[in-house]
Amino acid sequence: MSKTHYDIAVVGAGPVGLAAALALAQSPVGKSLKIALIESRPPRQAPTNGKFDTRVVAINESSRRLLDSLSSGSPGTGSLFNSPRICPYYTMEVWDTAGSGHVRFDCAELHHDNLGHIVEQSVLMAALLDTLANTKNVDFLCPHTVLDIQRAKPQATSQAITLKLDANTLNKSAETIASETTDISADLLIAADGARSQVREHLGFTHHVSDTGHTAIVATIKTEHPHAYSARQWFSTTGPLAFLPLQAGPLTNSETGDAQFVSIVWSQQHQRAEHLMELSDQDFCRELELASEHCLGSLQLASQRIKAPLAQSHSDDYVQPSVALLGDAAHAIHPLAGQGVNLGFSDVAALIEELNHGHEKALPIYHPSALKRYQRRRKPENRMAEIAMTAFKTLFEREELPVAVLRNQGMWVFNKAKGLKHTIIKRAMGLD
Ligand SMILES: Cc1cc2nc3c(=O)[nH]c(=O)nc-3n(C[C@H](O)[C@H](O)[C@H](O)COP(=O)(O)OP(=O)(O)OC[C@H]3O[C@@H](n4cnc5c(N)ncnc54)[C@H](O)[C@@H]3O)c2cc1C
Repeated sequence: MSKTHYDIAVVGAGPVGLAAALALAQSPVGKSLKIALIESRPPRQAPTNGKFDTRVVAINESSRRLLDSLSSGSPGTGSLFNSPRICPYYTMEVWDTAGSGHVRFDCAELHHDNLGHIVEQSVLMAALLDTLANTKNVDFLCPHTVLDIQRAKPQATSQAITLKLDANTLNKSAETIASETTDISADLLIAADGARSQVREHLGFTHHVSDTGHTAIVATIKTEHPHAYSARQWFSTTGPLAFLPLQAGPLTNSETGDAQFVSIVWSQQHQRAEHLMELSDQDFCRELELASEHCLGSLQLASQRIKAPLAQSHSDDYVQPSVALLGDAAHAIHPLAGQGVNLGFSDVAALIEELNHGHEKALPIYHPSALKRYQRRRKPENRMAEIAMTAFKTLFEREELPVAVLRNQGMWVFNKAKGLKHTIIKRAMGLD
């Protein structure tokens, strides 16, 4: 059977894989190359009629710059950041509910327009897919699932990797799904197939997984008081609760009620999360009002509640000959700081930069030096993020009085220490 050959195959069209395929296709190294983007699930449509996607992500400034450059590199597509459905936040507040500890960040203090943006995942994906539709050198193979991976013989110099794909095609008249397998080959394989990466498993990358002890509950909530474009987070001994502001229309429409929806990420110990999931909608909202200290008044559910157990994982290596892992496939962290996809976008930027350096030196796309430099640049930062998430979680879980007192005093001092506070928030924004 003849197989189609690509220079690069990207597996997984989540936010990281899609951004990687687009950034490659637009970069000096990739613009004359043939790229395959393989995804098993058809894209989800963004909800309409005033409804919001329950899955949202906080996008930092460094990711905003990458995403903006992708749309400006593709004539005919508008910037995601001009969409009325993307919500900037100007302040961020963090409370320790076991005391009086409180930290407030304000973009005005940093002389910046905002601290970041909250975007519904399906809106982000629709914008990236829109750009993909205007990108000529990427074949979007969807729905196609990678079933198996074979390496070429050691002496072969190209066509290093063969992927066996399961291609599902929907026969609309008979309403049946036909499944057939097909093979493709590629010189470089980029795996962005998420935390449960099959590519990582097939190729024998070793990685460690740790249960965070938390399950996240996500939902859209209508609030009594406007959210005032602030991202809020309460830390309790059973886990953190985040209120992320949403909007469905232009900023000026805030009086129509757009500014009264938030997306919650309520990470709680597994048993308590199960209990919260079993409560009636009304009782759940009463618990939520208590946990958020009635900050935005009375609350109503505006979506179903969805739960997701939270694990952290990290691969020992991000690269093998002709293979690179990106995003959650390489490292997945607790969402308490809203950094997961931002770290994945930083992986994309670093990998493309290193491949471009290799291209300037006329090295082949799969040359190990670029891949190794990518790993050296990204692994320390991603590992630090993993350690920081574990430390934060552990610090706020401690109930002993001396720890709680120190923690609250520490937050108070930190809130006053403008230099340190600005350094930390700039880091979270991806500005240094
Ligand atoms: C509750 C929650 C809240 C979060 N909030 C934030 C936040 O505010 N900010 C933030 O930065 N991060 C946040 N994150 C983390 C963020 O969602 C992830 O880091 C991000 O989705 C990772 O993107 P990815 O593209 O690497 O992987 P994924 O989004 O998992 O995408 C992987 C893709 O690969 C496809 N795939 C898998 N296997 C195959 C195969 N064999 N063949 C073909 N395709 C395949 C899948 O269908 C999927 O589309 C949150 C996570 C959770 C759980």
